[in-house]
Amino acid sequence: MNVPLLDVNAQNHPIANELRDAFDSVLESGRFIMGAEVEQFEAEMADYLGAGHAIGVSSGTDAILLALMALGIEAGDEVICPSFTFFATAGCIARLGATPVFCDCHPDTFNMDFESAGECVTEKTKAIIPVHLFGQSVDMDVCMAFASKHGLRVVEDTAQSLGARFHGKACGTIGELGTYSFFPSKNLGGLGDGGLVVTNDDGLADIAAKLRNHGMHPRYYHQMVGGNFRLDALQAALLRVKFKHYSSYVQHRQENAAYYSEKLGDCEGVLLPSEQHGYEHIWNQFTLRVMHGRRDELKNHLLESGIGCEIYYPVPMHKQECFSHLSAVNRTSLQTTDQLAEEVLSIPVYPELTRDQQDQVVSAIQSFLS
Ligand SMILES: *Cc1c(COP(=O)(O)O)cnc(C)c1O
Repeated sequence: MNVPLLDVNAQNHPIANELRDAFDSVLESGRFIMGAEVEQFEAEMADYLGAGHAIGVSSGTDAILLALMALGIEAGDEVICPSFTFFATAGCIARLGATPVFCDCHPDTFNMDFESAGECVTEKTKAIIPVHLFGQSVDMDVCMAFASKHGLRVVEDTAQSLGARFHGKACGTIGELGTYSFFPSKNLGGLGDGGLVVTNDDGLADIAAKLRNHGMHPRYYHQMVGGNFRLDALQAALLRVKFKHYSSYVQHRQENAAYYSEKLGDCEGVLLPSEQHGYEHIWNQFTLRVMHGRRDELKNHLLESGIGCEIYYPVPMHKQECFSHLSAVNRTSLQTTDQLAEEVLSIPVYPELTRDQQDQVVSAIQSFLS
């Protein structure tokens, strides 16, 4: 029996009829851009997250870009973000002509290290992007204190952590703006691209909503330059169907993670991801650290045993070719980031994983380590 890293069909096929009904209803309505489905989806998301405003957008990447645009980030500005993240976090900073400045992360949570971030601050620093990596919140008390000490704006990249909590508050609603992704591999996976921006600030919500549609208001009048960052009505309708099942998806991921922790907890040679006290981890990834330089060996062993696994992320941002001209801007040690890039391996944790499949993953890892 093969165990894939993710099985979108196992999630979508059981609700195929509901998804088809949603498709039919959009087809019937003839309304494909914005409209009621998008508005209702936004209202459901704002309610779920406890955010003042939710703005549906075209992807998680566009959500970050739009959030930074709403804050007026521009050429000459510096924005601090972790080096250990998906490319979009840093790419959006660079696309605005600003400079991403990379900080290190903690070896236990994989999330950004604010001591390291402190070494990155200059007069030009305008904002910081905490990334809630793999489903767990950054320490947002430390983050917000850091931002207020240095006068920085805060955009939370919550692409992997929709519904994860930091002491009861939803990730993405603590900073000025939060961004989310509905890429199929995210916890709320759409049938295509999609994203969301949330904020509690009425002014920022207004700007973000205008920027999403070419900065247009009223029709054909443009006070600012935006883009087409709209979420499709069809995608919103499909996401609304999937969102009805979201709490069970999250719960199954949490159960799967707990099972791995129980079964793999005593294994010599791998370190398990840690869940911080008072945080609610939603396990977008279950990421091991493989010791003694054996990561690639374990990866090959799992793949040969028919078990999907992946390295998130093999090349940190400060080592990306497109950012090589920024090496002078590396102001802090990125040693933990470099180390994690050599050690991490994510194993299947998706909600529909069966116990048999998990046992197979566990025994493949145990046999490799013994
Ligand atoms: C997936 C992801 C994004 C980008 O989301 P898309 O919807 O794929 O554009 C941004 N940041 C992080 C941390 C991500 O994991």
